[in-house]
Amino acid sequence: MTRKVMIVEDESLIAIDLQFILEDNGYEVVAHAKNGETAIELAHLYRPQLILMDIKMPKLDGLKASKIIEQQFGIPILFISAYSEKELLSYMKQDNVLGYVMKPFSEKNVLPALEVAFHQIEKFDRLNGKLLQAQHQMEKRKVIERAKGLLMQLENISEDQAYKKIRNESMRTQQEMVQIAQQILNTQQVNS
Ligand SMILES: [Mg+2]
Repeated sequence: MTRKVMIVEDESLIAIDLQFILEDNGYEVVAHAKNGETAIELAHLYRPQLILMDIKMPKLDGLKASKIIEQQFGIPILFISAYSEKELLSYMKQDNVLGYVMKPFSEKNVLPALEVAFHQIEKFDRLNGKLLQAQHQMEKRKVIERAKGLLMQLENISEDQAYKKIRNESMRTQQEMVQIAQQILNTQQVNS
């Protein structure tokens, strides 16, 4: 999948330079904003995976915009900056700030910074996916547990028997166990 990046930079020449470097190396530039305000709008519209953010810009500067983008969309940001001020360092602690590239930049330092940033982004996505999957499994297990408890109570059978009953029905009907369990719970709700 192409890695989608947004460029936020008020100086057109620098922005074009960046765009060339990105596109030459297989990144997709989904949008280009020239100030912090537009950056927030376009981030909302295009949902890039990473934002390359200049700091000194008219209207809303990159630091303030990065804060709003973090709160609203949590999109990761890589600053591009001509100065390494203390202020910038304090922003590096923000959850979505992955680092910065010093100006003047060249392909040589932009690319490694991008690589590292995307490595982090993709690792985070993978972990997040696994977490969601685990949560989903847990929910399924809970439904099966509840149905088992209900069967034990209603039919006065052991836990093992209740489990086998759900499993056998699952095999017979070729439905997932969680579906059978849900049907058992639904019937009970209708009857009570
Ligand atoms: Mg600027």
